[in-house]
Amino acid sequence: MKPFSHASFVASAGRPGDMPPPGPPEVAFAGRSNVGKSSAINSIVGRKRLAYTSKTPGRTQTINFYELADGSRLVDLPGYGYARVPQPLRAQWGQLVGAYLRSGRALVGVVVVMDARHPLTPLDRQLLEWLGGVRVLLLLAKADKLTRAEQAATLKKVGALAHNQMRLFSSLTRQGVEECRRLLEDWLGQAAGIKNPR
Ligand code: GDP
Repeated sequence: MKPFSHASFVASAGRPGDMPPPGPPEVAFAGRSNVGKSSAINSIVGRKRLAYTSKTPGRTQTINFYELADGSRLVDLPGYGYARVPQPLRAQWGQLVGAYLRSGRALVGVVVVMDARHPLTPLDRQLLEWLGGVRVLLLLAKADKLTRAEQAATLKKVGALAHNQMRLFSSLTRQGVEECRRLLEDWLGQAAGIKNPR
């Protein structure tokens, strides 16, 4: 079954206590506000507005949980690093995401969405450090804003700095969409294999 072929909203948690109990494998998406995270989620699940594409970025400090066709979950973590978000909200980001990461979930990996034009900002690096040993896919979003030569140079630069899997991605041209979906389905498939060994 292709888990990403059907995705439906499960819960929106503004506080740790509102998160659905852990259980099924989860793939989480994180990224600086406005990098194109919602658009990437929508492209990958093939839905126009599953993850809300916000015009006033950084306001929604909630973790949104979606259920995929096989019962696994896609988890949309709140965007970080939006300059106009007041300090208490930023502290809330750390508390909420920290609680998510510590809540004993079957987290198979985190997709860190970055703007291909400004990859690995200090905040992105902090997040990667914080994630520690969790498997990470770096999504270089809005790749359509780069020429082919710039795309190649970006891959080289990011590859030299980070030892994670990475993909160029564009919700606009759909570059990388199928490939990412397949990769994430692989992650989830591996998790299912471990949970139910034959
Ligand atoms: P989020 O805050 O990270 O969830 O970002 P959104 O998905 O809401 O996108 C922020 C802005 O970037 C919106 O104006 C989108 O239309 C635009 N955007 C998102 N993805 C792409 C993309 O692949 N290419 C281009 N050119 N613009 C994009």
